[in-house]
Amino acid sequence: MPASKVTRLRPTRPCPICDKPSVQNFHPFCSARCANIDLGKWLTGAYAIPAEAGEEDDDFSEDEK
Ligand SMILES: [Zn+2]
Repeated sequence: MPASKVTRLRPTRPCPICDKPSVQNFHPFCSARCANIDLGKWLTGAYAIPAEAGEEDDDFSEDEK
């Protein structure tokens, strides 16, 4: 069995932000910038939760007759 195939690099996931190879320092991102972008996504996402559109269904079109 030939043991010449040496895998020095562990399979790393690409940066979820820009798809560049991630670096260990900012894993799983490629840079601090992308890490911050991801953090910003989470923070802004908290404010971007869509309101329940179903609430609008409770309109007052019911005729109380
Ligand atoms: Zn990146």
